[in-house]
Amino acid sequence: MTDDAEIPEDHPRHDSLVTRHRIEDGVEMGITSQQGLIAQGRGEAFDYLLGERTIPSADDAERAAAAALLAAEHPVLSVNGNVAALVPGELVTLAEATGADLEVNLFNRTAERMQAIADHLREHGAEEVKGLAADAQIPGLSHERAKVDRDGIYEADTVLVPLEDGDRAEALGEMDKTEIVIDLNPLSRSAQVATIPVVDNAVRAVPGITEHARELADADEATLREIVDEFDADAALAAAEDAIRDGDLD
Ligand code: ATP
Ligand code: MG
Repeated sequence: MTDDAEIPEDHPRHDSLVTRHRIEDGVEMGITSQQGLIAQGRGEAFDYLLGERTIPSADDAERAAAAALLAAEHPVLSVNGNVAALVPGELVTLAEATGADLEVNLFNRTAERMQAIADHLREHGAEEVKGLAADAQIPGLSHERAKVDRDGIYEADTVLVPLEDGDRAEALGEMDKTEIVIDLNPLSRSAQVATIPVVDNAVRAVPGITEHARELADADEATLREIVDEFDADAALAAAEDAIRDGDLD
């Protein structure tokens, strides 16, 4: 296992290298798929162009995401092999801060990987991990890619899906759910179909949403709904695209 501490804190690409090593470790542990490595590479390129920071429109999206999760009757955080490797403890903390369930949901589903991720989340403090029952299906997708838990993603009113495949993001959106997508590419179909697209690195976005959830913990439902309603997804995507195209990388 690569130790985060091996990378000097003052290395100019410190955060990016730590992130990359976590994904490599994820592959070694059987948590992250080989395709996950490719997804990571795509993400890094966009993050570089964004200046590896949470841009203001992404921070607004993280606040709206926190409000949506807190206002939800049944929020679920979908966990794939990349975020399980990158931010397992942070996902458990976000689930606790918002009363959400955690559900393992894989594009390349294998029994071994499902189990390895569920175990990894438990090692990071998760009590209940859904996704292994797989007793329901997202309509409009082929069998393997559609599998979810009935009392989890299937019945959820609000779902957070980090780095989701475009087709699945679209199919979930058609189930009338409030869909929060974390994706560094504002042109990705997943980001485009989201109710709340968060164009930020999952490494920053997940703790960012938690921080907002803590600030909003005592807000009443009307206030939370207003924050969600006022959020403008198209404007957020446009702001992210502008930041990428015009960024001066200071
Ligand atoms: P499309 O959405 O355009 O159909 P895709 O979803 O099939 O493409 P992938 O390469 O599978 O393409 O998707 C990976 C997505 O995840 C990319 O958009 C990439 O920017 C994003 N991504 C990768 N790592 C991270 C990360 N750490 N945080 C946020 N987003 C990430
Ligand atoms: Mg995508």
